[in-house]
Amino acid sequence: MINCGGIMRLILLGPPGSGKGTQAQRVVDTVSVLHLSTGAMFRQAVAESNEVGLQVDPYLKRGELVPDDLVTAVVVNRIDQDDCDSGFLLDGFPRTMGQAEALGQFLEKSSKQLDGVLLPLVSDSEIVDRLSGRRVCTEPDCQKVFHIKYDPSQRDGICDGCGNRLIQRDDDHQETVRNRLRIYHEETIPLIEYYRQRSLLKEFDGIGTVEQVGQRLLALIETK
Ligand code: AMP
Repeated sequence: MINCGGIMRLILLGPPGSGKGTQAQRVVDTVSVLHLSTGAMFRQAVAESNEVGLQVDPYLKRGELVPDDLVTAVVVNRIDQDDCDSGFLLDGFPRTMGQAEALGQFLEKSSKQLDGVLLPLVSDSEIVDRLSGRRVCTEPDCQKVFHIKYDPSQRDGICDGCGNRLIQRDDDHQETVRNRLRIYHEETIPLIEYYRQRSLLKEFDGIGTVEQVGQRLLALIETK
């Protein structure tokens, strides 16, 4: 159990399609902590066609990782803002050893510590099943995530949160999913050992309904 003494700095690790986005939504609905998803930040930047958006767009389309320097600059700049003083839940970052080390150096320089790294355990075949059924809200400020089988919206193709249209993300198509999984194995799996050695890793069973998995995750987080 993670005892954060009121401030939580957490990382939600795990492969694409392991339910990170959905579970992060549950954590922030229950515990007062800021949800920072690099994927959502980038998709919003692309929708706004701002400078970061133009740089990251080709990587997102191909399902490839955005270069470390760019991702790290965006995240470090974000967590340095005042609203992150009471903690954050990082979702989708870090994804490479370079990013993990850059984050570690930044936190050390700011005299801040990570409280835990949460890892849902999910197999590759389960991931392909989940990603092919995933639907996301097209409204950039909402981006709620649904699943046609495990977490359907009340009205087909319509977001329960804001009423906008739901779509399948470009990078959830089969070819791109395989590429993203390959990159996860090559680049992100080494982080599991890195955080285990620092006694920060908390694994939980990622198979089951959104409700069941959410309860396991929340049980790992003790707030005071
Ligand atoms: P996600 O929604 O987390 O699957 O992220 C969508 C896409 O954003 C990824 O396929 C990458 O192109 C990019 N991205 C998000 N987070 C990172 C990261 N930490 N490092 C590199 N690229 C990232």
